[in-house]
Amino acid sequence: MSKTLIVLNAGSSSIKFVVFDVTDGKPTALATGQIEGLGASVTRFNAKDGEGQSLGEREFDKVSGAIATHENAVDLILNWIEETLPGTTVVAVGHRVVHGGVRITTPVLITEEIIAELETLIPLAPLHQPHNIAGIRAAHAAFPGVPMVAVFDTSFHRNHPFVNDTFAIPREYYNEGVRRYGFHGVSYEYVTRRMKQIAPLDAEGRVIIAHLGNGASMCAVRYGHSIASTMGFSALDGLPMGTRCGNLDAGVLLYLLDQKGMTSSEIRQLLYTKSGLLGLSGISQDMRELEASDTREAREAIDYFVFRVRREVGALAATLDGLDAVVFTGGIGENSWRVRERVLQSMQWIGIDLDEEANHRNARLISSPLSRVRVYVIRTNEGLMIAEHTLDLLGLGQAA
Ligand code: ADP
Repeated sequence: MSKTLIVLNAGSSSIKFVVFDVTDGKPTALATGQIEGLGASVTRFNAKDGEGQSLGEREFDKVSGAIATHENAVDLILNWIEETLPGTTVVAVGHRVVHGGVRITTPVLITEEIIAELETLIPLAPLHQPHNIAGIRAAHAAFPGVPMVAVFDTSFHRNHPFVNDTFAIPREYYNEGVRRYGFHGVSYEYVTRRMKQIAPLDAEGRVIIAHLGNGASMCAVRYGHSIASTMGFSALDGLPMGTRCGNLDAGVLLYLLDQKGMTSSEIRQLLYTKSGLLGLSGISQDMRELEASDTREAREAIDYFVFRVRREVGALAATLDGLDAVVFTGGIGENSWRVRERVLQSMQWIGIDLDEEANHRNARLISSPLSRVRVYVIRTNEGLMIAEHTLDLLGLGQAA
């Protein structure tokens, strides 16, 4: 009888999942998929196999049976696994959770006490945490008795020095948890582990990792540990993103409140969903569409994105006291040779010399032999990282 492990990433209107075969204690991806449009008039399900071939797509509406809640969605995933992989046993579920707060710094076995603690962190991540918890509760109902593990996007950053963990506002706010948590930690941890295999010497050095996807941030890693992140208290800070503003003078918030009379929920909508590449271009949040467009607004949106990434390369190199390697990951980082080329041009001053031909073909190493700093493109795999943590914590891994 084969054993499977499911990784769930539950958002507000979608659930992404990965199914791993773990029969021999080593996770091998069998399927990835997602359910989008939870609670909308039409909900879409799709799944692909480990090679990216479609395993099926379905649409649900009020007639065919609406998928309105996380419970409905997790039931759908469970039924799909039973149909597609008959005879397998789900032995564990790993959950991606955005916030572990100050206290939770490693993956944890999910218990009622842990769920209660995660609920206290909702004010720190109101757009993500409640949905992550809804996913946990739904999975608990669908897979009774199956052990579940939570893996956090904040954990990798929890040992930042104080100066990279605080804002210069009165201490009481720091003490109550207003800190620079940093996110995308699951991706950074995966990339850091891959670096150890691909380039062990650089992995022990001073590395900047740029996770450039719909959400985007950068991380300074020294000796394998995060020491700074461009993301701060929330997932709004740092780089501009698909629809999020990135770094913003707090005075702009006061202006929106005082002069424009906007409510906090209007400001939240503006900064999370209407800003970034979408807000600047007025066209799209999608880098591919912007690269294909010849409008001035699209060009300027990309210009701003590139400008901020370049600026952070300098800033993070300063926090690292120098630089040995840069890694690009995430949808844009892995695929857009244009963005990488523009970020890295004229960076000889910091020791980076790009191999343009290697960059064009998204090669793993895209710096030239003359480059003092190596530049890599590494495909992230957050699902695998969560699966490995889940197996390790439950003692189900290969080493067990
Ligand atoms: P998420 O943060 O939602 O996981 P991804 O990491 O998948 O997002 O990144 C999505 C972004 O990657 C989008 O802006 C998309 O346009 C961009 N992207 C994907 N492929 C390419 C490509 N070939 N060229 C340029 N941008 C790309």
